[in-house]
Amino acid sequence: MNSEDERWMRVALDVAREAQGAGEVPVGAAVVRDGVLIATGRNAPRQLHDPTAHAEISALRAAAQQLGNYRLDGCTLYVTLEPCLMCAGAMLHARLARVVFGAPDPKTGAAGSVANAFAEPRLNHQTAVEGGVLAGECAAVLQDFFGQRRLVQRSSAQPLRDDALRTPEARMAAFASPLSHWVGDLPALQGLRLHYLEMGPSTGGRAWLLLHGFEGWSWQWQGFAQALAALGQRVIVPDLIGFGFSDKPKREALHSADWHARVLRELLVRKGLDTIVLALADGAGAGEWPQRLTPHCAGVALLQLPALPADVASAPYPDEGHRAGPRALGRWSRGARQAPDGLPWFDAAIVDAASAENVARCAVEYFASVPHFDGAVPRSPA
Ligand SMILES: [Zn+2]
Repeated sequence: MNSEDERWMRVALDVAREAQGAGEVPVGAAVVRDGVLIATGRNAPRQLHDPTAHAEISALRAAAQQLGNYRLDGCTLYVTLEPCLMCAGAMLHARLARVVFGAPDPKTGAAGSVANAFAEPRLNHQTAVEGGVLAGECAAVLQDFFGQRRLVQRSSAQPLRDDALRTPEARMAAFASPLSHWVGDLPALQGLRLHYLEMGPSTGGRAWLLLHGFEGWSWQWQGFAQALAALGQRVIVPDLIGFGFSDKPKREALHSADWHARVLRELLVRKGLDTIVLALADGAGAGEWPQRLTPHCAGVALLQLPALPADVASAPYPDEGHRAGPRALGRWSRGARQAPDGLPWFDAAIVDAASAENVARCAVEYFASVPHFDGAVPRSPA
């Protein structure tokens, strides 16, 4: 092991964490030649619906494009997890000079663990292989990921309150995400289970709270949330009680703006978030939330989102009994889009994936440009 190998493995680790931010098993790869980074790739089989979308394949493809040559002579590929047979085969076809991996993979590793594709003397090309570079860090990223996933499975076993409903899992299966978290022990929740998505780095970056409207749920933020996370922002996307994956009390009377806000404030404290930018979808009640989320709310983004497809919008609500939340929120959150008093704010419409990325970039730049953003001198854009 040498410091050059560690340096490039850290690049691969960063890419692995990006994969985690996108809900994929965190594996990252980097192709390097003569001390120069040629390309990176991350695991994306879920996102791309592609069983071959492993980090190494993606990095090899990008490197070959970059070099204008399908043969990557003289290149070294760094990958955080021992390559599988498919990737080992692709690496041999690419005629890589060397492969360096981090953690061993006792289940599918093809560089010594289960098989060793690099030690077959009858193959015409030989690629040198070395394992164990930053193995501890590489394994920790994976363990965190799978540990979190187990946590999700455990917390989804929380018992349901007698006066509440929970959408049958089968209806929501298509929307399941490893970025899902559940919390049931905040005092204001009184035993109800709240669902939220969490993306982006756990430290550093601005924190964002993305609130759906009464006609939507957390799913409507997918594109924008991922774009923010890719820009290094920390993003929390709750389903308010009564919506999406969260528990749904049968009585409308339980829903009040004050109570929902108290739940959210307790969630922010639990997550250690002193200040957030609050992004509000249409129908989220723009005038109400910033004050109710004092002192956490330090800025507001008023965003128009594309309407959810009808089947997605109705997925959490198999019948009218499940709709007490949308009915209640719909009564107190209609009305004009209204800029909040005394806070920096941003206003935009998102129409598709590309504009989600553009709006995210503009919003991040805008809030970065506001002087004293986290302090006492707020202002609105001219
Ligand atoms: Zn593979």
